[in-house]
Parts: sequence; structure tokens; C-alpha cells
Amino acid sequence: MTVPLLIDPFARPISYLRVSVTDRCDFRCVYCMAENMTFLPKKELLTLEELDRMCSAFVRMGVEKLRITGGEPLVRRDIMTFFHSMTRHLDSGALQELTLTTNGSQLARFADELVSAGVKRINVSLDTLDEEKFARVTRWGRLPQVLNGLDAAQKAGLRIKINTVALKGFNEDELFKLTEWCASRDMDLTFIEVMPMGDLGGEDRVGQYWSLKDLRGQLAEHYTLTDLDHRTGGPARYVQLDETGQQVGFITPLTHNFCESCNRVRLTCTGELFMCLGQEDNADLRTPLRASEADDLLEDAIRAAIARKPKGHDFDYSRQRADGQVSRHMSHTGG
Ligand code: SAM
Ligand code: SF4
Repeated sequence: MTVPLLIDPFARPISYLRVSVTDRCDFRCVYCMAENMTFLPKKELLTLEELDRMCSAFVRMGVEKLRITGGEPLVRRDIMTFFHSMTRHLDSGALQELTLTTNGSQLARFADELVSAGVKRINVSLDTLDEEKFARVTRWGRLPQVLNGLDAAQKAGLRIKINTVALKGFNEDELFKLTEWCASRDMDLTFIEVMPMGDLGGEDRVGQYWSLKDLRGQLAEHYTLTDLDHRTGGPARYVQLDETGQQVGFITPLTHNFCESCNRVRLTCTGELFMCLGQEDNADLRTPLRASEADDLLEDAIRAAIARKPKGHDFDYSRQRADGQVSRHMSHTGG
């Protein structure tokens, strides 16, 4: 039986699901988590079987790309079982891409298995190449462990994109170093503007904010930037640096609006569906999932949620304060 595809009220087809499989992490990045986090009790989490049912329902309804995130997805126990179970959707052709966003700390352990599950490209978050600064921004992370992970991932054949949060007064001085390093290792690079997520107690969001317009201007002083057309339906815009041949992306939720082409929704590890990263509205999918062994209730709930997908977010720093702030942490919805 064919299931009707998911189209939202603004005629945007929903083809991309991001799934946070855990709220836990082995790092405590200053813009993402407080140092002392209280994590969810295990019974609140979707089991791996439930995650499979959720994702499979979305794939049946037209989702073609699945990104696994967190928290740190690779610290969830037995997460490889889940990756391997998603391989069947790649094999059937329903799913075009299975991928993940990771801090890289566990890649040395899991790179080969990810490849065997059908993962081809991954995003690895890395804000600095300086060991001391890395320890400061991640609080608990250690740079050599991540660099080993990157080596293992490349050796296993994974294509890597580095995600770097642009932080004023922190990694401004590493712009060219990071860019050249990625070029020399044949990795793509995307910069992300820091977003006003979560109340982390005393963090200065406006002070941390380094506009990617400025960052791009600095890059343009050193390199010839050619705009690339391809978009992912997401907030990233890409350029090519003619001198190095590499692609550099900019995720600019604050200086540009990207909502008109939004094709994605986000599922948390407790089964809440967020239809927009920048809005509080969410739909509980765990209750309909657990209410029946068949998926009819779940599919109805997914459809009802997509019918509420808003036109866009309201983030705005233009008045020198973090307007449109949402109270949850990025680790909750997975970024
Ligand atoms: N732990 C994994 C990682 O770090 O890649 C996956 C989850 S993490 C929440 C996903 C992405 O969100 C990371 O690239 C991280 O840098 C980004 N992120 C977290 N908090 C952010 C914030 N306040 N503003 C912008 N990006 C943020
Ligand atoms: Fe963990 Fe990723 Fe958040 Fe850093 S950004 S604390 S690595 S979930």
C-alpha cells in the first residue's frame, strides 16, 4: 500500500528527518550544554526498536535523508544496531542517504562499522585546532582523540565535512588555519552562526556572535569566492574557493532567512517532533507509537504535526539582544 507523501501547509515536501538518539554527550561545549547537565531517565527514551519504527514510518512517508545526531549519537549504547537496521531502507532505495553529525570522539571505534552500514559522508564538529582552546570550548573534550577519529574515518573511506561554530574572540584568528587544514585533508568546511539556544547561565550570546557576513568578507580578502548554486534545502549556502578548490558553507540562520526551502523536521530521543528548529511547538509521537503495535496512529500523528509546520523561525539579534530565543538546548533537538 502506498502512503501519501508529507507536504506541509506551505507546499514544502518533507524529505529530510534529523533524529537525536540521545541527549547525552561526552563533551560539554559552552554554547550547547551547561557543565552540570541532568539527563533524561532511560525510560523516557525511545528504545532502538522504537527509533526504528519511527524512522521507518517517516521513510514510508517520503523521507529520503536521515541524519542521526544528539547529544553525541555515538555514545548511545548499541547505536550501531540501529544504523545497521536502517541499512535496509538504503538497500530498498527508499532512503537516499544515511548520515550523522558527531563530535568525532568515538570515530576511531566506529568508522568501519558506519561504512558497513552504508554511511558515506559525515559531519564532524570542530571549532579550533588548538588543544588548549579545544579543551576550553568543549570543557571535557580532548583534541587528539578527535583527530584520531578523523584519521580513522578517512581511512575507512568516509567523506568528511567539518562544522565550525563561528565564535567571536575565540576562533576568529584561526579562520585561515582551519580553512587551509581542511583543504589539505580534502574535507569540506561549513561555518555556523551561534544560535540562541537554551539558557546556559551567564553565557553571553550576543557577545559570542560573529556574523558570517563578516567571516565571509575576511575569506574574500584572501581567496576568490565563487557562489555555488547547489542547496540542500537547508540553511547552508556554499562557495568554492578557487585557489584551493574546496567548498565552504555558511549556515546563517540569523543574517539570512532560509525557511522558504525548508524540507526538514527533527525528532528528539523522547519522540517529540519539532517542525521548526526555532519554534517551541512540537508534537508527541511517542504516545501514538506506544499506543498501538500497528503504525496507523503514528502516521496520523505525523501527518497532523506536518500540517502545523510553521512558515519560519523568529531568531533575530538585530536589536542587540537574542530575540526569538527558544529555551531548549541544541542537544535536545540535535542541531
Ligand atoms: N554532538 C554532535 C556534534 O557536536 O556534532 C551532534 C549534536 S550537536 C548539538 C550538533 C551541532 O550543533 C554541532 O555542530 C554544534 O556545534 C552545533 N551547536 C550546538 N549548540 C549550538 C548553538 N548554540 N549555536 C549554533 N550551533 C550549535
Ligand atoms: Fe556535545 Fe555536540 Fe553539544 Fe558539543 S555540540 S556538547 S559535542 S552535543
